[in-house]
Amino acid sequence: MLEIKDLHVEVGGKEILKGINLVIQPGEVHAVMGPNGSGKSTLSYVLAGRPGYEVTGGSILYKGKDLTKLEPNERTAAGVFLAFQYPTEVPGVTTMTFLKTALNAVRVARGEDELDAVRFLKLVRGKAKDLNITDDMLKRPLNVGFSGGEKKRAETLQMALLEPSLAVLDETDSGLDVDAMRVVAEGVNALRSPERSMLVITHYQRLLDHIVPDHVHILAGGRIVKSGPKELAREVEETGYADIKTDAA
Ligand code: ADP
Ligand code: MG
Ligand code: MG
Repeated sequence: MLEIKDLHVEVGGKEILKGINLVIQPGEVHAVMGPNGSGKSTLSYVLAGRPGYEVTGGSILYKGKDLTKLEPNERTAAGVFLAFQYPTEVPGVTTMTFLKTALNAVRVARGEDELDAVRFLKLVRGKAKDLNITDDMLKRPLNVGFSGGEKKRAETLQMALLEPSLAVLDETDSGLDVDAMRVVAEGVNALRSPERSMLVITHYQRLLDHIVPDHVHILAGGRIVKSGPKELAREVEETGYADIKTDAA
């Protein structure tokens, strides 16, 4: 699904990612953990194709094709979903309209027909209910004045509608209360399938009690310094990042 090889990324002329290797098979959930400033968000931005994040070496293959050759909207259309640490506010556009536009763009790219208002409403209401998202919230402008939990739920709804092949989630679990985290985790878990892969990026181990990954990677100083099974997340929680024994050592 995703094959990252010796990836080097520069931001503003400074090398932030210094040779990342990561292979995610279909159906797998991988977690990337690491201290603040280790390059976690940089990894999500480069996968999203955000301007200013320059690949200076290595490669990113998605379903065998060079992901870096695709524009951000082409990545979405190809089945890559990215949830950012700081969701953007979209004033003037209701959450409902935003979601309908996003879904129909992806459907068209997949060669499917566009959903009309009636079919979309039926679909979105069903999925929104599972995430405790009210009609009132769907009528508000996307993310404007949303609490941290509401933003994450809206984002999880978007992911549930788009049904991506690869979901990359850069998590703000710091701002989430336990209930909101559980709703998001349940939404994510409901999407786990043998055809779908997920990359969950998080500073905290807490989230990984709810979204249990198949593999955990520790990112430090722009490199993956250790990889292991789900228990590695617990180990980090107990010892802290500074005391983790790296694979290289
Ligand atoms: P994390 O998400 O793990 O906290 P980031 O990917 O946000 O880490 O940042 C990694 C490093 O890149 C940090 O040292 C940060 O200061 C630096 N960085 C991030 N964005 C920029 C930028 N636009 N220009 C220069 N340096 C940046
Ligand atoms: Mg950070
Ligand atoms: Mg970050």
